[in-house]
Amino acid sequence: MDFQEANRREFLASLGAAGAASVLVGSPDGPHAQAGEAKEKLAIDGGTPVRKSALSTGPTGPQFYDDVEKNELLEVLASRSPFRTPGGKVSQFEQAYAAHIGVTFAFAVTSGTTALYTAMAAMEVGPGDEVILPAWTWYADHDAVILSGALPVFVEIDESFSIDPELIEAKITPRTKVIVPSHLQGGVADLDPILEIARKHKLRVVEDCAQCCGGRYKGKFVGSIGDLGINSFQLGKTITAGEGGAVTTSDPVLYERAFRFHDVGMVSRSFNATVGNGVLGAFASCNFRMNEFTGAVMKGQVQKLDTICQGLRANAKKVREGIADLPGLKLRKSADVEGDLGTTVFLDCGTRERRDRFLRAMRAEGVNAAGPGGSVILPANARIASKATIHPQWPSFTTPQGKAIAYGPESCPRTIDIIGRFGGVSIGPRYTEEDVQDIIRAVRKVYLAMGLG
Ligand SMILES: *Cc1c(COP(=O)(O)O)cnc(C)c1O
Repeated sequence: MDFQEANRREFLASLGAAGAASVLVGSPDGPHAQAGEAKEKLAIDGGTPVRKSALSTGPTGPQFYDDVEKNELLEVLASRSPFRTPGGKVSQFEQAYAAHIGVTFAFAVTSGTTALYTAMAAMEVGPGDEVILPAWTWYADHDAVILSGALPVFVEIDESFSIDPELIEAKITPRTKVIVPSHLQGGVADLDPILEIARKHKLRVVEDCAQCCGGRYKGKFVGSIGDLGINSFQLGKTITAGEGGAVTTSDPVLYERAFRFHDVGMVSRSFNATVGNGVLGAFASCNFRMNEFTGAVMKGQVQKLDTICQGLRANAKKVREGIADLPGLKLRKSADVEGDLGTTVFLDCGTRERRDRFLRAMRAEGVNAAGPGGSVILPANARIASKATIHPQWPSFTTPQGKAIAYGPESCPRTIDIIGRFGGVSIGPRYTEEDVQDIIRAVRKVYLAMGLG
């Protein structure tokens, strides 16, 4: 009996007969849930909670900070040279990250938002152009399109919480230039049909990987599949330096254009080796360069990306398997279960009212649970529905299409419905076997007592 197995047995024994039974039915070869798994009194109704202390996971990246990041940072301090230079920490991070996900080029920027803005510039998105976005994603996807002067066009999501590929073609016009399938809450968007549509209509695809760093679609890392990928290293993402971002591509011209945009339109001589000979001229742009302190932390974090993803995936898999036999269970749809990061396991509670009770009941059991998060139903959001911009004559909304387009909740009823009825438990990469079994036990207990499914 290995250490983990010993722990598990001790833990099962500590639960007593009823608890042990409800755990054991979760194992693949255990008895089926319907075979008399007793309904237990929920903690929310005065029963005994599964856990005494609340289980939740904070941001994943900082849980893995250690001497690696510390020493990288100290080296930058000692060098007294925190501005990025070829061969420095930012460059080393970029190379490691490009190699990790399998692209020719990666460069670091200040955030996921500036990475998206840079991606739009690389695609030459501007006034009169339209960009297709999922109705549920982060503000930055919308705002990068607006800042470029183009028009955001939303497509509803499906039960994977990603853009529904079947609804994209109806939104394509002669002005459409780019599709942005966001990989949200650890899940991957179904890229094959999206790429097929893009090829057919000669559109570009920008993968927003901010919530799925380390995720894979059919064996390839996200960010290496579309024309260009962006990432964020803000605190809430897989790996982090508090803030930060990256742009990835294997297309040398897109790379040069994006690189120029993030660095004053130019390619300083010291970067000619990485950027290439420069087939494009300089143009008005910005400064989104990453500094060496951030690069130092990210160089450390990227070495831990695999470990973090393995921890998340293994724990999510155990939770999925531990509840798989619940009658009528409907999990979030996935375009690739193996590639999913496993940050959250979501189940369909049928209605918003039942979902909300499920979440309250789970929290009372001591297991943190939440609805889909980290994104916004953008067309239903007040500032987006009102087309608020920094100037009344903003080019996004002065065209006939810009004037005519109507956002608002009426434009995305399906997205509102889906986001309202799924509830999930977040998964930590460092959850112990006991933590995982508590999650399984709490989900089973609440699911059966509520008669979900
Ligand atoms: C976080 C996030 C961004 C923006 O990244 P920041 O680094 O916060 O600017 C973009 N898209 C999605 C889907 C995100 O979750």
